[in-house]
Amino acid sequence: MSTCSIKVDYENPQGLATAWARVSEEPSQERRRVLLAELEGLLAQRNAVLVAHYYVHPDLQDLAEKTGGLVSDSLEMARFGKQHPATTLVVAGVRFMGETAKILSPEKTVLMPEYEAECSLDLGCPGDAFHAFCDAHPDRTVVVYSNTSAAVKARADWVVTSGCAVAVVRHLHEQGQKILWAPDRHLGDYVAQETGADLLSWQGSCIVHDEFKAAELADLKTKMPRARVLVHPESPRSVLALADYVGSTRGILEAAGDPAVETFIVATDNGMFHKLRQTYPDKVFIEAPTAGSGATCKSCAHCPWMAMNGLENLRAILDSGTPEVTIDPALIDRARLPIERMLAFTQAGAPRATGRVPHLGAALTKFREG
Ligand code: SF4
Repeated sequence: MSTCSIKVDYENPQGLATAWARVSEEPSQERRRVLLAELEGLLAQRNAVLVAHYYVHPDLQDLAEKTGGLVSDSLEMARFGKQHPATTLVVAGVRFMGETAKILSPEKTVLMPEYEAECSLDLGCPGDAFHAFCDAHPDRTVVVYSNTSAAVKARADWVVTSGCAVAVVRHLHEQGQKILWAPDRHLGDYVAQETGADLLSWQGSCIVHDEFKAAELADLKTKMPRARVLVHPESPRSVLALADYVGSTRGILEAAGDPAVETFIVATDNGMFHKLRQTYPDKVFIEAPTAGSGATCKSCAHCPWMAMNGLENLRAILDSGTPEVTIDPALIDRARLPIERMLAFTQAGAPRATGRVPHLGAALTKFREG
């Protein structure tokens, strides 16, 4: 199986840093058929369930659904993995998704087709620097996006996804709390704008969504006046300003169900188009413009780390059962609190906490000393 390495520049506290993604070539149609048949058997043998993000290869998405797993956003992936009775969770996505599954289900074996699949938001927010940022602003409630390491989550009062960030921060703002936000600056900017919260943001960005271009999108809108524009909030403010709808991947999927609209311009990773076209085969979905086109790269609207997930490495991990996702148990205990807080908050019909929601600072002190 031949692979190609892709160099990826991303923002971190020192400026620009470089990481790598290793993407395998597509298997032949015949090999693909063999792999898909084998994988169904291997998942059953291991009592494993496959949980896939909307951005991974369509074959993995289809396999997840065919075998009783799930294709969704990171919030629902986390919830599903925790509730599912399988003893092994196989997470097709990027590292923080596997770690979140392990944090919520420490008793389960968690495997990933590619454990080295990173995320520029996670890479750009190292634990030590983030702890120093929090230490400098002790009066703020710490809200972190799910696209972060276990060490960063362990410092948070709340973990949120793009699906619930606005609701959680609005809830905290209504209680008079000031927010320290990390790591995505565009999502932080959007959340502050929507809620009016006093929000101090880390300056990270997603290498995919940061590339959508407002001027080209405005041109496209002019050419297609009947199209509706759906945008993920990790995109720059100038792009969000042109949107008819701003929301998470799951929100975008729901918004595309509007029976009055036939054509949508979509600004999110183009892995999402598989589920959109599967769900709405009679509608037209067009990629929002980025800086470039071509193979998986920084500017082609496809995450190079999501692209590392494939049938071959899924088969290898199910065969060997290693490496498992492992996290220090003390870190799991601390990082689970803000994630469970999010899951409880977003549960349908869940009662909302009234009065000031306590900080998790006491638990943090215990964790650091222990
Ligand atoms: S698309 Fe962006 S936010 Fe999602 S995993 Fe890739 S780099 Fe991270």
